[in-house]
Amino acid sequence: MAQVPKFQKAYVLDHKTLKLNLIEDLPIPELQHGQALLKIKAAGLCHSDLNIIGGLPPFQEDFILGHEICGELVQFRIDKDKEIKENDNKFKQYEEVLNSIGKLYTVYNVSPCRDCSVCKQGNEVSCPVNHLKHYGIGRDGGYCEYAIVEIKDLVLVPKELQDKPEICAIATDAILTPYHGIKKLKKIDENHKILLIGVGGLGLNALQIIKSFNGYAICCDVKESQRTRAKEFGADEVYEKLDETNSYQVDSVIDFVGNDETVKLALSHLKPSGKLLLVGISSKGLKLEPRTITRMVWKELDIQTTCIGTQQDQFEVLQLVGQGKVVPKFEVFSLFEDLHSCLEDMKTGKLFDRAVLVP
Ligand SMILES: [Zn+2]
Ligand SMILES: [Zn+2]
Repeated sequence: MAQVPKFQKAYVLDHKTLKLNLIEDLPIPELQHGQALLKIKAAGLCHSDLNIIGGLPPFQEDFILGHEICGELVQFRIDKDKEIKENDNKFKQYEEVLNSIGKLYTVYNVSPCRDCSVCKQGNEVSCPVNHLKHYGIGRDGGYCEYAIVEIKDLVLVPKELQDKPEICAIATDAILTPYHGIKKLKKIDENHKILLIGVGGLGLNALQIIKSFNGYAICCDVKESQRTRAKEFGADEVYEKLDETNSYQVDSVIDFVGNDETVKLALSHLKPSGKLLLVGISSKGLKLEPRTITRMVWKELDIQTTCIGTQQDQFEVLQLVGQGKVVPKFEVFSLFEDLHSCLEDMKTGKLFDRAVLVP
């Protein structure tokens, strides 16, 4: 197996001071049974990074930031005398890695235990055992040169994307999240009218996913640039604003903004028994007026939230991207030169597209 240095550069979040420090000589520990070492090729920057650096939720130890990870497999360790749990080999990664040195992998950052009752019911995203122990969110992630991950959390990149680590890093969150949410809607076809409120990065990815299933997409965004992009990606109708008087009678609404106004709008445009999928939720919280609640009950509407996605979803998303059905917009930056300025630009709203950091 390839030679790996003993030390590396990494951005470590000090959980007490909440300072993100670049450590130049962080030791790379020896692999344990069931672990793999990835040479980082790309790591996606995410808005959640700002919350994490802001101390939300509180963490118990220091860790390397970065939860959208794509890297080349350089080493793994499988001890012959140790048992491999069936649940840990759900996607047959233990066999796959044997012939995959040098191949590009993404990491399923949730790293669910797969043994608890929540995981067994298929709700691995909410696994309580690994809560606050996602890669880059409570445990070491990808803003570094080499990441140690569990073999069970690897998701192989399809051959069409083996030389495109940046797009794969994006797929693990900015495409996975809308994809997982869209799967919670009823079957998508040309008769299924979906209203998307706010077509920023995630919204445009959602639009492409919907169009790949031949759904009917109505997009609403106050920004002209985003409306133009929505048209480019095949939106069937595009609006700057929707008024409440003219009901669009849609089957589903996906709200990427999630404030009082957009939720009210969503509930007024849904058909009876329609579903509101909340992908974004305003940090200011949500208040529903009695009139809105009455309307919601009268129409028997469903309100659905969504979070990240399953490991199976991550496989499927990479296939969709590999087939060219979803083409995310992103900008590439240098991990060790630009991370702090990218975080600052994201905070002040200057970062227009999704940023991907490359070591
Ligand atoms: Zn994220
Ligand atoms: Zn679990």
